[in-house]
Amino acid sequence: MNTKIQAVKGMNDLLPGQIEHWHRVEAVLRDVAWRYGYQEIRTPVLEKTELFRQSIGDQTDIVEKEMYVFEDAGGVSLALRPEATASTVRAGNEHGLFHNRQQRLWYMGPMFRRERPQKGRYRQFHQFGIEAFGWPGPDVDAEVIRVGARIWQELGVGGVRLHLNTLGSPDARARYRDALSAYFQDHRDALDEDSLRRLERNPLRILDSKAPATREIVDKAPSIMDFLDPRARADFEALCDSLTRSGLDPVIDIRLVRGLDYYTSTVFEWVTDQLGAQSAVCAGGRYDGLVEQRGGRPTPAVGFAMGIERLVELMAVQSAHDDSARLDVYLVSLVEQQHAVTIGETLRDAGLRVCEHCGGGKLANRMKRADQSGARFAVIIGDEEVADGSVQLKNLRGDGGQQRVARTELADTLRRMTADDTAR
Ligand code: ATP
Ligand code: MG
Repeated sequence: MNTKIQAVKGMNDLLPGQIEHWHRVEAVLRDVAWRYGYQEIRTPVLEKTELFRQSIGDQTDIVEKEMYVFEDAGGVSLALRPEATASTVRAGNEHGLFHNRQQRLWYMGPMFRRERPQKGRYRQFHQFGIEAFGWPGPDVDAEVIRVGARIWQELGVGGVRLHLNTLGSPDARARYRDALSAYFQDHRDALDEDSLRRLERNPLRILDSKAPATREIVDKAPSIMDFLDPRARADFEALCDSLTRSGLDPVIDIRLVRGLDYYTSTVFEWVTDQLGAQSAVCAGGRYDGLVEQRGGRPTPAVGFAMGIERLVELMAVQSAHDDSARLDVYLVSLVEQQHAVTIGETLRDAGLRVCEHCGGGKLANRMKRADQSGARFAVIIGDEEVADGSVQLKNLRGDGGQQRVARTELADTLRRMTADDTAR
């Protein structure tokens, strides 16, 4: 029996009509990374499960319940990557990228987390991220954040606010952790189940809880700001100052901790109120201990990961997508097809995007196809046009006007007209 097998829940097909938006976003991401001097790194989507366990942390949602893990035929436990920082660090250590060198790296690709699918939250999703290895900050922290700001600017996305916090030095973090632990012990009764479990091993993560009762307790919890040593405080102030001078105006959010264990010092999120519950478009921070913990030399590091689905959705909400991927010309030959072929290749030589009508049919049907194609113009060639070396150029959008244009001038005319169109 023939059965229709559907896609895996939470994993999306990207169809024509959507993919054009993705291409444009991806092009901007690549270009911005390039302009800031970052270089691309591509790592496998599969890694040993142990890598994520040790890097992201055993007590995190990701490792506890969201990873796709399986044993391969050789009995090795492998996982689909839920994020790419751990892989980037692994690859950097493995290939000596951090030996006496600083590195600015970026990546882009699919990540996998078995979360409850909903708008803005999928089981296969895509991240673009940058990582800067070898600088202690806070100057490079500000740079990493400005890369995000430039991406919003280049994509024409507005209303994304920067939330900023610091987790302090490992020392301060440890003292803060003890204070939090004591505080939450006193309020155990109000904690949700997940938070209770975290109380022993990772009380900081309770700050991240979304349970309403726990949130009330969290709001009155001690603040990291009271535990910072002078150096961390000075760094944080320098970072805030630099960002403010760049016009970024960070919201200091002392409850911001991030869901991965490897963060130290600076943490941040770019947040919008236009995507409902899934409000974080980009998140990152400093993870000074991770390279060494993964067997490398001590290497300070900072980076972010951006959710491309949420970015594309945000652009749709704000109508920030352009339609420059539209077809320029639909070619209809009422005479020998070869005329259309020749004209088509000439127009493509001129950089235009052209489809030829295939499959014959009546003129009315062909014009219907032309319209459905979304092209801006139809170019029609009949007997008369062949005789005097011209074509009919019909505007399929706007006024629908039609004019006769000499074949020799067609490419220039179209280039001019499509350029006007884009400028509008
Ligand atoms: P959230 O709090 O929304 O679960 P997170 O803290 O788990 O996010 P990170 O692991 O820091 O997110 O990933 C960085 C970015 O990747 C997020 O800000 C978001 O834009 C995107 N992202 C994370 N998980 C998903 C998902 N399941 N589907 C789509 N995008 C995601
Ligand atoms: Mg998450």
